[in-house]
Amino acid sequence: MAKTHSTLIKNAQLVLTMNDAGGITGDEIANCDILIEDGVIASVGQGLAPQAEEGATEVLDAAGCLITPGLVNTHHHLYQSLTRAVPGGQDALLFGWLQTLYPIWSRFGPEEMYVSAQVGLAELMLSGCTTTSDHLYLYPNGSKLDDTIAAAADIGMRFQPTRGSMSIGESDGGLPPDSLVEKEKAILEDCIRVIDAHHDASEGSMCRVGVAPCSPFSVSRDLMRDAAILARDKGVMMHTHLAENDEDIAYSLEKFGCRPGQYAEDLGWTGDDVWHAHCVKLDGQEIDLFARSGTGVAHCPCSNCRLGSGIAPVRAMRDAGVKVGLGVDGSASNDAGNLVLEARQSMLLQRVANGADAMSAREALHIATRGGAAVLGRPDCGQLAVGKRADIAIWDMSGIEAAGSWDAAALLLAGPTQVRDLFIEGRRVVATGQVTSIDLSNVIARQNTLALKLSEA
Ligand SMILES: [Zn+2]
Repeated sequence: MAKTHSTLIKNAQLVLTMNDAGGITGDEIANCDILIEDGVIASVGQGLAPQAEEGATEVLDAAGCLITPGLVNTHHHLYQSLTRAVPGGQDALLFGWLQTLYPIWSRFGPEEMYVSAQVGLAELMLSGCTTTSDHLYLYPNGSKLDDTIAAAADIGMRFQPTRGSMSIGESDGGLPPDSLVEKEKAILEDCIRVIDAHHDASEGSMCRVGVAPCSPFSVSRDLMRDAAILARDKGVMMHTHLAENDEDIAYSLEKFGCRPGQYAEDLGWTGDDVWHAHCVKLDGQEIDLFARSGTGVAHCPCSNCRLGSGIAPVRAMRDAGVKVGLGVDGSASNDAGNLVLEARQSMLLQRVANGADAMSAREALHIATRGGAAVLGRPDCGQLAVGKRADIAIWDMSGIEAAGSWDAAALLLAGPTQVRDLFIEGRRVVATGQVTSIDLSNVIARQNTLALKLSEA
């Protein structure tokens, strides 16, 4: 019999399991250990012992640490980490911001896609993220979804890339320049190609591909419908941007004669296998539609603040039973990619809109873990329970940020914003605050060289 690979995490000050027991964080266990075997959680509890054979189990001390499930990011455009804080886009609304950035993005190629993805993925990992989606909707100069899939495989992130697309360029009344849009037939063919090449539907999968036309204002009604048919035929999930701000609603009413929720429903874009980014402007009927149909939402609070889009009705969505996860969104509209800070921001924004008791630190952490896992269709992730994937974030509570805290579980009120250690599929990809799977300083240097080249073009 093949030997199991096993790790024992010992003596955590507190473990928030996010399991189905008790309150919103599940069982909260003090002085707790976690045993990992072959990428899966084998045991959670006090006083666990390593395997009998000497040295068979790696032991990691977690005294003074809070342990949570790895966080799940449901919306990103990793390539945008190469266009952070671009001066012309710093203070613009969504549509103007896009028009500033499109010409820069049109100069990207495979190298830019790979390096920017690794930077974005490393940043997510350091902030406690163990599973991320990505939405890549432009493919200039020979770029492919495969470039980002390779980046994720090399760094060891659990990855749910989506094959995005834009098909309506400026000359057809769309927003993007013609050079960044593709023919719809080619888009659908490439969706099939990447699904066949990379999609793994199995439990514990490290790569699941989705289908993701960019937004109602950059693709046709036909493509939205055909993409939904294709996704369901292949058994993969579907993702797009929806109801992001007032301009977006106005566009929908003018061009389609209906609100975004109606547009989505008419074209097959509601259901358990669909999640939409933003949804800042959903009205009560649309919230009911999403709850009824099991449609998920990727809530991106920092991006919504940055672009002045508004405050998404997350409290109302959650109360109605809508699945909500968090997204950092692309690094051109955040400009950070720190998921634990995003969780804090989601808590704060709901309080701005609805009062101090509108969202607790524990609930926001639940959304960041279980919430995201539900949105991405991953019941195997997002909780620390026997049989679930060993995606684990270890937060050192002995530093300045938590000094004086009375409640370690209130990580989002007082706690570190980077992990000490991070496990994905049982592999320790961050150790004592450093990414172990790639040479990060080399990747950052490559990224800065590429950014300089883009800025000089
Ligand atoms: Zn986005």
